[in-house]
Amino acid sequence: MAGMLIDGALRGGLKGRTYPNVNPATAQCIGEAPDADRTDVDEAIGAARRSFDESSWSRDHHFRAHCLRQLHEALCTEQELLRDVLVREAGVPIALTHSIWLDTILDSVSYWAELATNYPYETQIAARDTLAAVTSHRTVVREPVGVVAAITPWNYPLPLNIFKVAAAVAAGCTVVLKPAPDTPWCGTEFGRIIAERTDIPPGVVNVITAADPLIGEALVKDPRVDMITFTGSTAVGKRIMAGAADHLTRVCLELGGKSANIVLDDADLPALAADFAGVCAHAGQGCALTTRLLLPRRRYDEGVAVARAAFEQLSCGDPTDPAVVVGPVINARQRERILAMIEAGKREARLLVGGGVPDSPAVGYYVEPTLFCDVDPNAVIAQEEIFGPVLSVIPYEDDDEAVRIANSSIYGLSAAVHSADAERAMSIARRLRTGTVGVNGGVWLAADTPFGGYKQSGLGRELGHDGFAEFLETKSIALPA
Ligand code: NAD
Repeated sequence: MAGMLIDGALRGGLKGRTYPNVNPATAQCIGEAPDADRTDVDEAIGAARRSFDESSWSRDHHFRAHCLRQLHEALCTEQELLRDVLVREAGVPIALTHSIWLDTILDSVSYWAELATNYPYETQIAARDTLAAVTSHRTVVREPVGVVAAITPWNYPLPLNIFKVAAAVAAGCTVVLKPAPDTPWCGTEFGRIIAERTDIPPGVVNVITAADPLIGEALVKDPRVDMITFTGSTAVGKRIMAGAADHLTRVCLELGGKSANIVLDDADLPALAADFAGVCAHAGQGCALTTRLLLPRRRYDEGVAVARAAFEQLSCGDPTDPAVVVGPVINARQRERILAMIEAGKREARLLVGGGVPDSPAVGYYVEPTLFCDVDPNAVIAQEEIFGPVLSVIPYEDDDEAVRIANSSIYGLSAAVHSADAERAMSIARRLRTGTVGVNGGVWLAADTPFGGYKQSGLGRELGHDGFAEFLETKSIALPA
């Protein structure tokens, strides 16, 4: 078991407590994780504060770029170990680790290494009369925001740990990372790699793990923390925002979603089978998955048949099997929650495929890929985030109604549009109140592309220049001309 990383030391909690780490595919304990209490959190914040206030870290762009290049190399060196952790601790199917769950996101660290040195931290505004009629030069300086608390979920654990920590570090911040209780090793192994394989100084990155999710509140309420970057549920996001209000701590919130996939009436429906089934990847535990499928009424039966055939071919399986894409859900509690939502769905829509727990695998936390059709846009399964392998098919009359249904959600994270006419699809994409839209299979997830939500899907952006700027304060300095 790797320890937590606090002030450069890899260690257990001060009270020596640990908690079991459970493999969701087998329901077996695979080892222990350090169980921090508030004194550990206090030390981690203190270390991050001192590193920010008392070292040259925040000002030395070139050293930070050097450390991030080292981090990129180190993550590539330890890639197979990280893959094993993702599969065993989070139940991510090994096939998916070859894509955006691991292999293809590591290069993002190089993007932040570049930004650390190339970002325009200072810009000049030409001398002219100010509002007070004093001609002045103005320099706008962007400085790191300070100590960042990074709180991450279990469903996309390693990429989010990397995105948040690497971007904050690139900007010159210091960090306390708190991963979700179900995925502690994605945090502790990341911390170990930082400590053992990079020159990132002690205290700049700290990692704490705990069984109690509320240990995160100690981070949120501490006045020494300047910013909270949080990814997780909308309910917890609201609580964090309320807690942060005490000290007006800055928040960046990446929250839940209920994204729509709008298929226009000229789309090539059979070609979309894999797209429809894609909502079951990693057992549907993805914030931006398009879990509402909007089909035009005049091609509704055809579209439902394509979705049905695609779902009937899916089966749950052992995530270590390279042919499997639908693994377990994270824990027993989450499985019960998903099954309760499916029961609600059976009362309000037509169940076509799945709807329960599969016979095989016999152990572990599995839920059958489940397809509902004839779903009312206001039904529970069309409005609430299920976070399981469940797709709700909703019919619509015309393009305007499709847009209206897609936008009738408290969420606004992502969407997809499919059409034979790219222009028509683009014009629909512009009308959607969501932070990202994939048109005709276009992929927005990239280090240089801002990601985040409208409405109750969040505040602020991750990735890209916008995501980097979240970690910066703006100072304007004026000098008489
Ligand atoms: P969660 O909200 O239960 O927990 C997320 C993190 O917050 C965990 O580390 C947890 O321990 C911590 N936490 C819980 N209560 C807290 C509190 N009161 N104060 C401080 N920290 C607290 O989310 P989850 O169940 O781990 O993850 C699934 C959710 O995350 C889904 O809603 C999903 O849509 C969302 N998500 C969003 C994105 C995005 O980028 N928008 C990405 C992935 C997941």
